[in-house]
Amino acid sequence: MGRCIGVLATERVVVGVVEDAHLVGAVRVFPEDGADADRLRDMPAEEIAQAIRRQVELAAGGSPVSALGVGVPGIVVGGIVAEAPNLLQLKGQNLGAALSAAFPSTAVRILNDADTVAAGIAATRGELDRLVRVWTLGTGIGFGRYPWQPAMGEGGHSVVSLDPKENLCGCGGSGHLEGIMGHRAMRLRFLDREPEEVFEDARRGDERSRAFASLWHRALAAATATSIHFDGPGKFYVSGRNARFVDAALLNLQLGEMVKMSPLQGSFLEVLPTGDEVAVIGAAVTAAGARTPG
Ligand SMILES: [Zn+2]
Repeated sequence: MGRCIGVLATERVVVGVVEDAHLVGAVRVFPEDGADADRLRDMPAEEIAQAIRRQVELAAGGSPVSALGVGVPGIVVGGIVAEAPNLLQLKGQNLGAALSAAFPSTAVRILNDADTVAAGIAATRGELDRLVRVWTLGTGIGFGRYPWQPAMGEGGHSVVSLDPKENLCGCGGSGHLEGIMGHRAMRLRFLDREPEEVFEDARRGDERSRAFASLWHRALAAATATSIHFDGPGKFYVSGRNARFVDAALLNLQLGEMVKMSPLQGSFLEVLPTGDEVAVIGAAVTAAGARTPG
């Protein structure tokens, strides 16, 4: 029985060995230096793949690797990164094939980074037996789901507004959740003011900021209601660095206004700050699950 290794490749490559939904030792981070925190953005795709391979080898420490899960910020289809708006050079890369070639006897799974967060939450909170959905609020907006399914999707781009002027999403689509909630979109809307200041102004009673904070919450409630109307009720987590702006009570109130049919009620949104470690655990758990049929 070899090692199960999880990787998160977003701003940096974060790698950890996972046993029974726990990290064994500390995660490895590449590049290590905080000053180079954004280095992956400027790195060619082949170098990113090589960096992942090297860090996995170092983490394994000579032991065989039985399962390797890698979370990337984009749409993944059969191991190929089909779209990666926040790490553009990965688009079209067959990361699954590259890593399978490097680790021929390993179960390799490449998945969306938000799906790794959902799996990590499920694994670390003892919820592997149920549906777990998570919104990750950062530069973009991710939507992750556990159990993992091969269907591709980008829930962060759910349409939550029919106003044609809502066009700030990084993908260019109009009315998107990310165009309202994404960090980049908020800075565009407020002409480079930091979202911290906007939410602070909202608390102080500034009318425009207050209206935006309300829209921001309603957008997330709307996208959650859509997921409930398609997939049924359940637990939703809100994670990512901008989860700090969430007023959970307000969000649950708004959700209650949007879901009225009794069999679909009973969902709950919970703010749960998670670190890279949770995503690393989720990536490993998903890849390990892929080894055992059924
Ligand atoms: Zn979009």
